[in-house]
Amino acid sequence: MIFIFLGPPGSGKGTQASIISKEYNIKAFSTGDILRNKAKEDSPSGKKLAADMVAGKLVETSVVNEIVVEALSSGDKSLILDGYPRNLEQARFLEERGVALSIIFFKIDDEILVKRLEGRFSCAACGQLYNKYFTPPKIEDICDHCNSQHFSYRSDDKREVILERLREYKSETSALIKYYEDKGALNVIDASIAVSDISKQVTAVVKNALTL
Ligand code: AMP
Repeated sequence: MIFIFLGPPGSGKGTQASIISKEYNIKAFSTGDILRNKAKEDSPSGKKLAADMVAGKLVETSVVNEIVVEALSSGDKSLILDGYPRNLEQARFLEERGVALSIIFFKIDDEILVKRLEGRFSCAACGQLYNKYFTPPKIEDICDHCNSQHFSYRSDDKREVILERLREYKSETSALIKYYEDKGALNVIDASIAVSDISKQVTAVVKNALTL
């Protein structure tokens, strides 16, 4: 079963992917994370990726499709795809692979998204996620988990880039909601509530899909 975590940037897909991944021992592939690593490569393709990503644009579908083909060939019976598909072309490409899909849509309002994205950062040592508005470290500038004082901020979490990413989401990705809804395949969850309560909803969908 391939679990598709679909939703706008900042809707908490990544957080939930890592929770479900640990709980059910299912590998999670974040196309955004994989692309951020590829964008560090000192090559023309790396530079092109970095330029698109820092501008909040979607990268070329052929590049992302390659990542997904690799993920699907891992031999795992179940996988989580976080951030893919992002447009109809990608959705059709995935369908052509003939795999069973369970689609989870993270529904949330725009105002909450901007604060979630503008405020988020992570510990550079252990990767623990924080948000300066909602979930800061207990002691300022010190990681709760590993005491590191080094934190990472995503270069595309700046206000103007956030707005561009949301615009890109609306023009490209939101069409997928109707696409999957029309197929009767959309599991809608409320992504505006606390992480643990979102988890309960996601877990219910995952459990149900795994018993089918
Ligand atoms: P994310 O971490 O999911 O917010 O993705 C960060 C950035 O990676 C996006 O703004 C896009 O530039 C790129 N990206 C991630 N997934 C895709 C995808 N499926 N198709 C095209 N671009 C993507």
